Amino acid sequence: MKKGKKLYEGKAKIIYATDDKNLVIQYFKDDATAFNNQKKSTIEGKGVLNNRISEHILSNLSQIGIKNHLVKRLNMREQVIKLVEIIPIEFIVRNVATGSITKRLGIEDGTVLKEPLIEYCLKDDKLGDPLIAEEHILAFDWASKKEIEKVKKMILRINDFMIGMFRGVGIKLIDFKLEFGRLKFNDKDEVILADEISPDTCRLWDSITDKKLDKDRFRKNLGDLIPAYTEVAKRLGILHEQSNVSVVNVTKLSSVKRKRK
Ligand code: 5GP
Repeated sequence: MKKGKKLYEGKAKIIYATDDKNLVIQYFKDDATAFNNQKKSTIEGKGVLNNRISEHILSNLSQIGIKNHLVKRLNMREQVIKLVEIIPIEFIVRNVATGSITKRLGIEDGTVLKEPLIEYCLKDDKLGDPLIAEEHILAFDWASKKEIEKVKKMILRINDFMIGMFRGVGIKLIDFKLEFGRLKFNDKDEVILADEISPDTCRLWDSITDKKLDKDRFRKNLGDLIPAYTEVAKRLGILHEQSNVSVVNVTKLSSVKRKRK
């Protein structure tokens, strides 16, 4: 497969064309942003870890029948994905109240929700991804009623599966963000799961200590983001438990090898 021109560059990923009109390449950057781009940094190795973790989760979801854009991982930083038209909504799923909902509604941090709560935000950086109601989605044709109903069913199944998967490795799935897209070049306009699922898009707390193993380490200046993401990857069985070589070192080693050739 030939990598073509850059089609889109987001905050954490770049999309490249390929010689197949149905497929694109998703490249995971090391850039980290928070608070609507006000806080920015580059954290070496983050893209590599997110690529691996997202691949793991999306392939597991595929096995339980959740259709998604992942075709295959290509290398340390890239995966081949199906080209979709992204629905301009961020679907936020909450099992425990923390983050923006606690500030917005005065809910006590750490409150366990009776049932998973789905919130919708308009995907628009200039507006700061504002919270919207389902009625807004329908009123402005961002998605159809049928699409929303299908997406809600998929979200609850994804949440159930991910809660179990993380619980099995001693991690609480607090909340996360999902994006969905319409398959291009498909007459049925099928909606599938897209984007990424990683510690950048989820809140993950250690089951016993409540230690944060996600992007809040960057947002809240807690440090040790790479060790936290590595811990998630190790617990999921993606990186070898006894592996002493950090992902950062692996990235450095591979770039040294490339230079020597
Ligand atoms: P909150 O609304 O509390 O800030 O975020 C809720 C959940 O959605 C968190 O897991 C957070 O990581 C994720 N999330 C919400 N918006 C974004 C976003 O624009 N980018 C990323 N990476 N995650 C987001």
